[in-house]
Amino acid sequence: MKLGMSYFGNRYKDCAKRHFRHMKEIGVSYIVFTFSENDLAFYEHTMHELFSLAHSMGMEVWADPWGMGGVFGGEAFSAALLASPDDWQVRSDGKSVPHACLNSRRFRNFVKLWIDSVVAGGTDYIFWDEPHWYIPGWDASAAKRLGMKAEDMDIKGLWACRCNNCQNLFFQRYGHPMPKEMTEEVSEFRQASAYDFLREMTEYGKVKGIKNAICFLPLDNKQIGIPDADSIASLDSVDVIGSDPYWYIFNRSVDDFVKPVTQRFIELGRKYSKEVHMWFQGYKVPAGRELEMEEAVKKIHELGVRNAAVWAYNGASHMSYLRSDDPEKVNRILEDIFKKFSKK
Ligand SMILES: [Zn+2]
Repeated sequence: MKLGMSYFGNRYKDCAKRHFRHMKEIGVSYIVFTFSENDLAFYEHTMHELFSLAHSMGMEVWADPWGMGGVFGGEAFSAALLASPDDWQVRSDGKSVPHACLNSRRFRNFVKLWIDSVVAGGTDYIFWDEPHWYIPGWDASAAKRLGMKAEDMDIKGLWACRCNNCQNLFFQRYGHPMPKEMTEEVSEFRQASAYDFLREMTEYGKVKGIKNAICFLPLDNKQIGIPDADSIASLDSVDVIGSDPYWYIFNRSVDDFVKPVTQRFIELGRKYSKEVHMWFQGYKVPAGRELEMEEAVKKIHELGVRNAAVWAYNGASHMSYLRSDDPEKVNRILEDIFKKFSKK
């Protein structure tokens, strides 16, 4: 089984060398490097050196636009949004929200600059991490984590994007103004815009010689995420598709979450001849439930997927926000899982 691990929070080469050696020993075949805007601005060559280090040890490199523009997953802030407030998404009530509009030309060009950098660094894959539109509830949670009041940040039923550019594009497509309600047409427009964004980005990377893997949020609510993975999975420029059904944080079980989401992506993978990869949760693991991690990988393997990854190295024990109740136990079990399943 091909196994991946995400890696972040350390940019010292000597430490990384130790960590990567350890990863190689337990059977990691690829490292998913978070490569945030902060990395692009301040650690660009360091990141390229870390890529080379992973390659020199025989592991693949996947680069993740972590938290970029507030439209990808990840615990990273976006400076691009501060530099370019005109490109923020506009919510259905008219308020601008700190997430780049997927239709913004400036944002698309910025993502291409990022692609240029990770390609120059030698990445094998770009890992498109949970691309999404504004998600009601997430901004309020982010503000609360900073101890800020957030009552007016997320109001149920609101959606984005209704910026001027999106309204114009909507008018061109449907011949009437964009409504303020989430209608079938609005949902279809958002889907088509996300498709177009990912098509342009994945094709840009593809011609430069990298492969594209997309991880979709495991949610099917029309208001959030990108509900229809189907059209995006059909893109020739997309090589790998998958999802991250993190059952602990969603208060679900392996059987009622990991299994159906994996089955859904297996079907999509078959339909479009794409490799499927599935993530399993190695952070925020509640005490006493650590062995469910192995159940999840077993389930993914039983269903026929041969590419799985964990978020994150060492169970993200260095990040207090993501740390498990018993990080040492989680890490021990993770190592056992990797040793065992890398031989399957
Ligand atoms: Zn917009």
